[in-house]
Amino acid sequence: MQTTTIRTAPSCADDREPGILKVEEARRRILDAVTPLKGEERLALRSALGRVLARDVISPIDVPGHDNSAMDGYALAGAQLPESGFLDLRVRATVAAGDRFEGSCKNGECIRIMTGAPMPAGTDTVVMQERTMELSDGRIRIGTGHRRGENVRRAGEDIAAGAVVLEAGRWLAPADLGILASLGVAEVSVRRRVRVAFFSTGDELRGVGEPLAEGEVYDSNRYSLYGMLRRLGAEIQDMGVVRDDPVALRTAFAEAGELADVVITSGGVSVGAADYTKAVLEELGEMAFWKIAMKPGRPLAFGRLGNAHFFGLPGNPVAVMVTFYQFVLPALHWMASGREWRPLIVEAIAAEPLRKRRGRYEFLRGVIEPGDDGILSVRSVGRQGSGILTSMSRGNCFILLDEEQGDVAAGDRVRVQPFAALTHCQG
Ligand code: AMP
Ligand code: MG
Repeated sequence: MQTTTIRTAPSCADDREPGILKVEEARRRILDAVTPLKGEERLALRSALGRVLARDVISPIDVPGHDNSAMDGYALAGAQLPESGFLDLRVRATVAAGDRFEGSCKNGECIRIMTGAPMPAGTDTVVMQERTMELSDGRIRIGTGHRRGENVRRAGEDIAAGAVVLEAGRWLAPADLGILASLGVAEVSVRRRVRVAFFSTGDELRGVGEPLAEGEVYDSNRYSLYGMLRRLGAEIQDMGVVRDDPVALRTAFAEAGELADVVITSGGVSVGAADYTKAVLEELGEMAFWKIAMKPGRPLAFGRLGNAHFFGLPGNPVAVMVTFYQFVLPALHWMASGREWRPLIVEAIAAEPLRKRRGRYEFLRGVIEPGDDGILSVRSVGRQGSGILTSMSRGNCFILLDEEQGDVAAGDRVRVQPFAALTHCQG
């Protein structure tokens, strides 16, 4: 039988294509094009959670502020600690956290001390209560096995006065709020948030709450985009659905380019008859259009629109999320913080064989979990089509199979990017 395959242009079913970009190269070009934003504001501590510190924070004080006890026990001068036998000490006083012992502790004496109480003058060691015996005459007995200086937290051991505690560019995490509070800092300067405008394109799209006619689908991309942007702390401008109509698109593009630092669209970047994104962007801004050797998410338009950077993501719901996490997120991170995005990537054992075509990067959705032996293993969520959005919800990670990777055998090591590390900025 004679075969009659027609192929007039390269498509996503092809292995290799001249000019097709590698994922790493596309990411590098994007990061070369965007620059960190200027502008800052002062916020009360709680409101600064998830925001980016605009200036270094220098500690005004030592933390802890004074040498203090790490245990409930007895403070004494460590030089007296016995090397053999016992030592009996008179208990002169008791100090609790917040108290102060005004006198000075002499040899043959000790002070009953509670966790957090300042070390009395003349003492440098705390013997924990459980290692002492109370005698009947107001004295206590300790034995051997103690070390001079034990159970004492030194002034400034966590943070020294004058030290840089948190550096500019840091995303403030819960621990950072606690650290700033421990310094008595009530307000911080944070960088302004990235303004992101986004809209969906497609004549077939309907909003939630509207009835669906034959051939129509609900617009889900604006919701997953909203969720991803919200988690990353962007200032969001949701511009709704724009029809596949060059006039409507021109208006939406012009408006978005005015009000945002970043404009994101989904859909309309392929070669279909209703795909106008490229043409309109070329007309109103500057466009780089790339086919990226990846699955899902092959076509990506990137460029400028007024003062904004533009990302034209593909329409398929999984492709939107994959291209957002792989390309938009590193750019937003850099713009917001001036720091490079370094996502957590871990190794896991493939629990099953995975089919993979060489020559393109594939981002499979997987489930990673520790086995009974504590070793991480990962399996595919199953169907991997770029329209199967439930794969992003059932999965908890991307299995990263790069261009060189071929089929994976069960038991092979693979690199995995947990979703948890993508949904909040850090570092
Ligand atoms: P396109 O890239 O515009 O050709 O769209 C590719 C596929 O994604 C089509 O099946 C669209 O119906 C679907 N699609 C595009 N935009 C959305 C959206 N906002 N929500 C859900 N599906 C979409
Ligand atoms: Mg479309």
